Amino acid sequence: MGQENILEIWNEVLLILEKTISESTFNTWIVPLEPQYFDENSFVVNTGQALAPSILRKNHYEEIVEALKKTTGKNLEFKIIFDEELAKTFAKKAAKRAAQLEKENNEKNTKTAGGFKYQYDSLTQMQSSNLNLKYKFENFVVGSNNKLAYVAAQTVAQKPGIKYNPLYIYGGPGLGKTHLMQAIGHYIIKNRPDLKVLFITAEEFVNDVVNALARGDEKTKKMNSFRKKYREVDVLLIDDIQLIAGKTRTEEEVFNTFNTLHGSGKQIVITSDRTPKEIPSLSDRLVSRFEWGLMADIQVPDIETRMAILMNLAKDSNVEVPNTIIEFLATVYSNNIRELEGAFNRVTAYASINEVPLTIDNVKKIINYSEKEKSFTFDGIVDEVASFYNISVKELKGTGRSAKIAEARQVAIYLCRDLTKQSFPDIGKYFEKKHTTILYSYDKVKEELKTNHSLANSISAITNKINS
Ligand code: ADP
Ligand code: MG
Repeated sequence: MGQENILEIWNEVLLILEKTISESTFNTWIVPLEPQYFDENSFVVNTGQALAPSILRKNHYEEIVEALKKTTGKNLEFKIIFDEELAKTFAKKAAKRAAQLEKENNEKNTKTAGGFKYQYDSLTQMQSSNLNLKYKFENFVVGSNNKLAYVAAQTVAQKPGIKYNPLYIYGGPGLGKTHLMQAIGHYIIKNRPDLKVLFITAEEFVNDVVNALARGDEKTKKMNSFRKKYREVDVLLIDDIQLIAGKTRTEEEVFNTFNTLHGSGKQIVITSDRTPKEIPSLSDRLVSRFEWGLMADIQVPDIETRMAILMNLAKDSNVEVPNTIIEFLATVYSNNIRELEGAFNRVTAYASINEVPLTIDNVKKIINYSEKEKSFTFDGIVDEVASFYNISVKELKGTGRSAKIAEARQVAIYLCRDLTKQSFPDIGKYFEKKHTTILYSYDKVKEELKTNHSLANSISAITNKINS
């Protein structure tokens, strides 16, 4: 048999299977198969879906073999091979599809905003404020990691402009800063319909400044309407303020807007991925203003909080997710809630569309989980840390006490413990140091991470490198 007609054969098979297999199974599992090769004994297809071989073998093997027999007249063995390359393409398509679904969902949310009319005195006010309906206090899980920021946000929401002005919320990516800030906005719109709330990302602010400053006849008019937009609000929420760093004209406008609003008792809330002082090149006068009110940080949530967030999601989306799965996901995604939620959504969407039971094994396949932790080596970690700090491995493992080298050494020790879960004595042997020294370094970094954001950023950059 020549390979050239393999596609014709497979098309015939598809026509037969289409009639006997349910539409959803057919589209999900059969259509994406790619015929590869056949001979006297077997017919081979590739799949990019890790679960396809077991599902098809278990549920539809006979039907497929039967269809092959009708088409070729032979009793061929049917082989399904999982192909890494196809899997990558498949993952890309799935990600695109998930993004599309999320977009549709968001649009749906906005469209149903009318349903919230009874909650808000003015729907237009809600819409003009720029807020996302999902980001409310009701959907925010409080843990020890975000308690301070949460309480401060509630205080500000209840009495805008009175206490904590500005409220400055900072912390790593995906930890709930935007959510909390918008929750303040929702609360005020609902309870104080007389107040005008505006949510804006620093990026949009920069664009507005640039547009207002653009050359042209309308320049003065544009600048005036820009100022009006920002200075006639009662509550200004600026997200990701670090993005204005180094943009002198924008900084100046932020400074003027800040003074006008603050001077007349209007509430300002700011978020950032770091403290004002840590924003490079931010002018001193802005740093000091941002520090006037309350600075509240959000830390990485502990495992209970992460599980609580997932349980809430499961409840909201009405899906039954076993506790073991929730715990598994919360363990794997430990330092970014956006990623944690993303994985949860992928898993539940996949499982419900494809009618796959939610077992740990299936979940691992869906999230492309590889037991990476096990393959971390001390050498690999030390290499990355040394290159991050721009020192040699020998210096890192040596006894030098300069601040930079000492920090690099402690970070390396911390990561060796954190990523490999090896014992302190074992790590001590590797670094040729006493295990109490190792313990001390580990605890020191762990403690320091609670308050030192630039250290947290360094460690997350190094971990990303090690993971990639
Ligand atoms: P950030 O602005 O800090 O990068 P976001 O506010 O965008 O993070 O949060 C990322 C995602 O995680 C959002 O979908 C948000 O709803 C969710 N999230 C973050 N913290 C919490 C929390 N404490 N409870 C519930 N959901 C949360
Ligand atoms: Mg954000």
